Amino acid sequence: MFNVIKTFLKEGIKTEDISSYNEDNIAIYKKLPKTLKGSLNIRHIDCGSCNACEYELTALSNIFYDIERFGIRFVASPKHADALTITGPITRNMYKPLLDAMKNVPNPKVIIAIGDCAMDGGIFKGAYGIVGGLKDINIEPYILIKGCPPTPKDIINGILKGFEG
Ligand code: SF4
Repeated sequence: MFNVIKTFLKEGIKTEDISSYNEDNIAIYKKLPKTLKGSLNIRHIDCGSCNACEYELTALSNIFYDIERFGIRFVASPKHADALTITGPITRNMYKPLLDAMKNVPNPKVIIAIGDCAMDGGIFKGAYGIVGGLKDINIEPYILIKGCPPTPKDIINGILKGFEG
């Protein structure tokens, strides 16, 4: 234990500085409830993504970005979640599972759209297997993080900005 503390004091904090990000990629439609600050549980739903958005989301939990330092963590069930992150265009096969997941998230059912596809279908818009994006099914997210895919820094800052003001 002493060695761990000694190394920590010698090496300093190794997590990434997230202060540089692209503000233009963040759109806040509704403020997140302040009561969730420091303890935000997220269930992720891939509605039909190409998986690049998932790679960036997965990076949030590594020791480099370490999103848990902000009290934000991913959980396995919508019933344990305060918020849903949505990626990808909404495919016909994922439309009902998305609605089922939303039903199981306790109010206020915070929705966070990750990536261009989540909002309007992105590059898959108009494809035969696609219902569309959140706006096509009349769901307004609290936050949209734009990008194809968005960067981990933009995602973290977008979520944190949702609590500001
Ligand atoms: S926004 Fe880009 S990276 Fe994300 S699912 Fe769509 S095509 Fe893939």
